[in-house]
Amino acid sequence: MIEQKMLIGGEWTKGAGSETITVINPATEEVIATAPAAVEQDIEEAVNVADAAFGDWSRLTPYARGALLREASEYVRQSADRIAMLMTMEQGKPLAEAKGEVLKGADILRYYAEEGERVCGRIIPGDKANVESRVIYQPIGVAAAISPWNYPIELLAWKLGGALAAGCTIVCKLPSETPLSPLMFIECMLKAPFPRGVVNAATGKGAAIGPLLLKNPKIKKVAFTGSTAVGREVLANSMPGLKKVSLELGGSLPMIVHSDCDLEKAGAGAVRRSFRNMGQICIAVNRIYVQRRIYEEFLSLFKAKAEALIIGDGAKEACDVGPMCTLKGIETTQRHIEDALEKGATLVCGGSVPRKRGYFFEPSILRDVNHGMLVMREETFGPLVGVMPYDELDEAIALANDTDYGLAAIVYTNSLYTAKRCADEIQAGNIAVNNPDAGVMNAPYGGWKDSGFGHEHGPEGLYEYLRIKHVKMCYKP
Ligand code: NAD
Repeated sequence: MIEQKMLIGGEWTKGAGSETITVINPATEEVIATAPAAVEQDIEEAVNVADAAFGDWSRLTPYARGALLREASEYVRQSADRIAMLMTMEQGKPLAEAKGEVLKGADILRYYAEEGERVCGRIIPGDKANVESRVIYQPIGVAAAISPWNYPIELLAWKLGGALAAGCTIVCKLPSETPLSPLMFIECMLKAPFPRGVVNAATGKGAAIGPLLLKNPKIKKVAFTGSTAVGREVLANSMPGLKKVSLELGGSLPMIVHSDCDLEKAGAGAVRRSFRNMGQICIAVNRIYVQRRIYEEFLSLFKAKAEALIIGDGAKEACDVGPMCTLKGIETTQRHIEDALEKGATLVCGGSVPRKRGYFFEPSILRDVNHGMLVMREETFGPLVGVMPYDELDEAIALANDTDYGLAAIVYTNSLYTAKRCADEIQAGNIAVNNPDAGVMNAPYGGWKDSGFGHEHGPEGLYEYLRIKHVKMCYKP
C-alpha cells in the first residue's frame, strides 16, 4: 500500500490535516494507496509559496525557463515505465496507452519550452513624431490548475507546460481518483533544479479544496478541465476575484459518416474514438450519423471491430481496453443503455459487465436511436455510442448541432464540398475530417458553447498565462 505525500510549499508532506483519500485499482477494486486530503492551511501555504516564487521565476529569461523544462522532460522520459504502471493501476488504461500518455506529457513540456522562447510583442507606429507603441506580454501570476482523472498526466502537462514557460508559478489540484501518476510525473520533473515553490500539487476532494484555491486572491489564472457542471462552479468561484479563467469541459461528440467515404477508415476511426480509454475521453464519439444507403454496412463493420477489442487488466495482460476508472461510470453507461432500450433503440453489441471483479464494461453500440434518448443528449463518458441514419447532409449537420455542447466533431467523406460544409457549419471548436483525432500539440484546442472557453495546446495554450501590456513611448522628451 502506497502512502502518498503531496507537494506543498516546496516540500513533500502529509499536510496539516489528518484525513486521507483512497486510491482504488479499477481492475481489481483493491485500495492501492492513500493520499492526503489537503486542508485550508495547506492550500494557503501552497499559494503563498507559489506567490513568493513568482517574482524571480517570471524574471528569468524564457531560455532559462525553457532549459529547465527540457531537462524536466528528459527526467520524465527516463521514468516513463514506472509512471505508466502507476497510471494503469489507478486509472485502468492499458500499459502501452499509459506510457504513450507519459511520453506525450514529456513532449508537452519540451514543446512549451520552445514556444515560450517565441513569445513576441508588436511595435505599432505612433500618431505623432517620435512616438510609438510597444505591445508586450507578461506572465499573469500564480496559476491554479484543476484537472480530471481520464488523462491524469496529459491534462496536467498542458497546464504545467503553458504556465511555467510563460513565467507563472502554479498550484495544481490533482484528480482525487488518480493522484499517484501525476505526482510521480511532477517528482521526476523536479529533478531539474526548479526553484522552490514554482510547482505545488495538492491532493484531496475537489469540492473541498477547489473553492479554497479559486477564492484565494493571490491566484490570478484558473485553468480547469472537467465536467460542465463543475466548470460552472469553478467560474462562479473565480468571478469575485475577476480571475482569468479557461474551461475545458464536457462534450457530446458527433461523427458524420457520408456515403462517399472510405468505409473501412470510418469504421476504424469510429471504434478508436468511441472506445479508446473506455470512452472516457472528452472527445470520445457519442453519436454517429450514417447516410442511409451505407447504414447497415457501416453497422456490421463497426460491430465486428468493437467485438474484436480485447478487454483486460492492462497491468497484467495485453489488451486494447481496460476497466472504466470509476463505478459511477458504469452506472451512467447502464442508465443510458436502459433509457435508449426503453425508448425503442436496439443493442448491436455489448451492454454487459464481463467480469465479476473490476469496473469492466463491454464496448456497446445502440442503433436506431433518436435525440429523445440520453445517449444522444448527455455525455455518457463511457464505452457507449448511439448510431442513427440520415438522408441528406443538411439533416446530419442539424443533428450534429442539436446539442448544448460544442467540443469537437468528426466527419468521414471523400467530397471536398461535404468536408468544407461540415467544417464550416458544425458548431464546435475542433473538427476532424477523415481522421479520428481532433487534437494535435501545436494547434489550439478548446470548446464552444457548454464545452467551455479558452484554449490549451499550441501557442494559444501559452497565451492563456500571459497578459498584454501596451507601452506608449515618446523618444523625444
Ligand atoms: P469533474 O468535473 O468531476 O472533476 C474535474 C476536477 O475538478 C477534479 O480534479 C475534481 O476533483 C475537481 N473538482 C470537483 N469539484 C470541484 C469544485 N467544486 N471546485 C473545484 N474543483 C472541483 O470531472 P471528472 O469526472 O474528473 O472528468 C470527466 C469530465 O471532464 C468529463 O465531463 C469530460 O468531458 C471532461 N474533460 C474535458 C476535457 C476537455 O479538454 N474539454 C478533457 C478531459 C475531460
